[in-house]
Amino acid sequence: MMTRTRFAPSPTGHVHIGNMRAAIFNWLYARHTGGQFLLRVEDTDRERSTPEAIKTLLEAMEWLGLNVDETPLYQSTRMEAHLAAAEKLLASGHAYKEDKGGTGQGECIIFKMPGTDMAFTDLVKGTLKKSAKDIADFVIVRSNGTPVFHLANVLDDIEQKITHVIRGDDHVENTFRHIAMYKALGAPVPQFAHLPMIINAQGKPYSKRDGDAFVGDFQEKGFFGDALFNYLALLGWSPGDDREVMTRQEMIDAFDLVTVRSSPAQMDLRKLLWMNGEYVRAIKPEDFAALCRSELSAAGVTPGDHADAVFALMQERTKLPSEIVPATAFFFTEEFEYDQKAVEKKLLKEGSFQCLEKIIGIFQTLENFDAETVNTALHNFVEQGGLKFGDVMPPLRIAVSGQQSGPDLAPVLAILGKEKSIARIRKTIERFKG
Ligand code: GLU
Repeated sequence: MMTRTRFAPSPTGHVHIGNMRAAIFNWLYARHTGGQFLLRVEDTDRERSTPEAIKTLLEAMEWLGLNVDETPLYQSTRMEAHLAAAEKLLASGHAYKEDKGGTGQGECIIFKMPGTDMAFTDLVKGTLKKSAKDIADFVIVRSNGTPVFHLANVLDDIEQKITHVIRGDDHVENTFRHIAMYKALGAPVPQFAHLPMIINAQGKPYSKRDGDAFVGDFQEKGFFGDALFNYLALLGWSPGDDREVMTRQEMIDAFDLVTVRSSPAQMDLRKLLWMNGEYVRAIKPEDFAALCRSELSAAGVTPGDHADAVFALMQERTKLPSEIVPATAFFFTEEFEYDQKAVEKKLLKEGSFQCLEKIIGIFQTLENFDAETVNTALHNFVEQGGLKFGDVMPPLRIAVSGQQSGPDLAPVLAILGKEKSIARIRKTIERFKG
């Protein structure tokens, strides 16, 4: 039988990474098994499921490359079918009506649990059991005539012929009820896989309070969709070896539900940042250059001489596009700003200016000004003078870039070239020596 999985979010305007991770696992499993991946928009809460909220959801899926195989099913269009099924359950004795709490506000329809102990084999968690006394009968149609989540969810999974329900483990308790409903409706029971929670460093469910938690946050910050996809795929799953940065096809090939871990998965924003850096490195140099040009142009900086060398140097160390402008603007203008703190801490120090004067002298003697030659010259200067790198390099870096951190200094100097490097050092001395 062909595998059919689905993503069944309730749109709220924000797509939490936990939901998206469920979508990714569904997508990967469908692709791995040569099956189909469907979308069902559980939009019965009309106040939250606005057209904008749905648009946000669809855009997030597109950004992550989660293509679906059929037209999405909108749950709100299925109310009649849900109510008709409730009537059927009443007729077959699997449900009954009750004026809950005797409020006189009308009757709800209540599903009648079979009254037997229940068990099912979860593809991630193994055998799960529940005794009859712990699962009470439950409402499937409210007294105002609207169907409840359990009814709609199960009927739509039947309608969409879902074979594998892969969702967060906050739904485990619901699943016992859902299985009873499949049986009462005479429908085949799908397989279930409940995914471990995504937690913060304290072991609590990861939320907005812990940092970026919505797909849109990462998109706005300039993360690559492929990098976020890769990172989320590894939250609770691994290919069984030490691979981490994987192509989509490698993930599809390696993915399986039996290798999904049942223990909670910890969200680590630094690791995600690292992963994004790996994706930045992997793009074509010309694509990275185009990204740099667009970032710089948005900031009003015109990349001039040696722009390609600058971009090549940056590609190795850039994790997010937002780092590009602050890290490269100084290459393209003599009017770069000095980081005041850096100046105070590292430049206005005993011996700094003397040291910079000497460096000018050394640079003047160099015939070649490639990174290696510059590097060797600086090393010799430090070693022969019995100096410390920590006293020499920071003032030099500030002198040519205004900043106290950045790419390796020797290639930066080589790209600027001998004349410009010397001129900048001179200018810095004049400006700050006092
Ligand atoms: N709309 C539900 C949710 O987002 C569906 C859960 C499911 O069955 O996948 O939690």
